[in-house]
Amino acid sequence: MKRLLIIGGGYAGTEVIRQLVLRGVKNIQIELVSASPFFENTIAGAEVISEKLRTEGLRYDLKLLSSYWGFDLTVARVKGVDLDEKMVKLENGQRSYDVLVVASGSAPNFYNVKGVGFAATSYRLSDFEHINSRLKQLAPDHPSIVIVGAGYVGLEVAAETMDLYASLNRKARVTVVEKMQHVLPGFGNEPARRMAMEALASRGVVFTMGKGVEQISENSVLLEDGSRLDSDLTIWSGGVKASDLASSIRGASLRNGYVEVDQRLLIKGRNDAFAIGDAAYVSINGSVAQKMAAEALGQAVTVAKNITSILKGEEPETAHKIDYPVDFPKVLLSVGGGKAILVFGPQYASMGNVEYFMKRRIDLDEMMSRFPSL
Ligand SMILES: Cc1cc2nc3c(=O)[nH]c(=O)nc-3n(C[C@H](O)[C@H](O)[C@H](O)COP(=O)(O)OP(=O)(O)OC[C@H]3O[C@@H](n4cnc5c(N)ncnc54)[C@H](O)[C@@H]3O)c2cc1C
Repeated sequence: MKRLLIIGGGYAGTEVIRQLVLRGVKNIQIELVSASPFFENTIAGAEVISEKLRTEGLRYDLKLLSSYWGFDLTVARVKGVDLDEKMVKLENGQRSYDVLVVASGSAPNFYNVKGVGFAATSYRLSDFEHINSRLKQLAPDHPSIVIVGAGYVGLEVAAETMDLYASLNRKARVTVVEKMQHVLPGFGNEPARRMAMEALASRGVVFTMGKGVEQISENSVLLEDGSRLDSDLTIWSGGVKASDLASSIRGASLRNGYVEVDQRLLIKGRNDAFAIGDAAYVSINGSVAQKMAAEALGQAVTVAKNITSILKGEEPETAHKIDYPVDFPKVLLSVGGGKAILVFGPQYASMGNVEYFMKRRIDLDEMMSRFPSL
């Protein structure tokens, strides 16, 4: 019996276990340590704002999953890892392992902006529930809502805010503020950028481009050029950074705060510890992996194959193939009103109801059907 310890019950962590179960692997004792008792399908989460989806349909109880798939679950936050000692430190106690998978994801990046505590974060399912209830509490007459960040999360939050107000037969002034000169800064696709901006502008969303946020106050947002936007609710969608855990892994090297891995997704210089998903910096043959759920799932498959080799006493030799590289964006982005944009590579983009149907199928049905239906 080898002891496999997985940190993080998100897309990557749960998929490693699923892949091992599907492979019928037996001579292994698996323990998942996760800070949250639920798997959270965050990629469809923005639709909780408009009440098209409910949180309950977007999460899965890890305790229940552990009984179906036969692994041990500990709900706790990992404080640190020592790769030499093969030891994982929890809030309460510690664990040893034969094989480790770090799949602890990323964290919202607030860039040390002052007053960010006045803003609502848009990262977890509970954040989207919170935004929904705050939006409904705002004064009925044209409240001002400022969304910081025009990445795909910020744009989806804007779209779902418009959809919520439309369903309530109310109007709001929604402004998206972005430091860069274009929307979707993480996805180099000009047609998609134009399409997304036009789609949201046609629904009344105002864009303030090329200006970063200096400070957030209770009722306003100060921009770096000294101008100020009134805001009844400020929503932070400023992107992600490495989670705190990455910097507490003794023996790992970091790149931009993320754990560096080799092409087999082993933490550099190790033969018994992997890092995958948002926690890892994955660069193979000049291609860098995008921080996306779909890529995290693919990395989990590679790691499950390598763990299967280790269990057979063989070298883990499966090299990962990045399916979602930064320089070839592939994403479905909801723009509200039952439409989505398909971004495929640097040039192709299309928008419509079919794209939204695809997004629902992939982000909701496909993601949740990885687990036994309830
Ligand atoms: C709003 C939003 C929309 C998105 N939309 C898309 C999309 O449309 N398509 C797409 O492909 N990607 C999308 N993404 C990105 C996608 O969600 C991430 O790439 C994905 O979640 C990464 O999976 P992961 O398993 O690495 O991390 P996560 O799914 O974040 O899981 C990490 C897990 O680790 C746990 N954890 C964290 N720290 C610790 C610790 N110290 N100890 C123990 N447990 C810990 C967490 O509780 C969590 O369960 C979106 C992200 C957001 C926020």
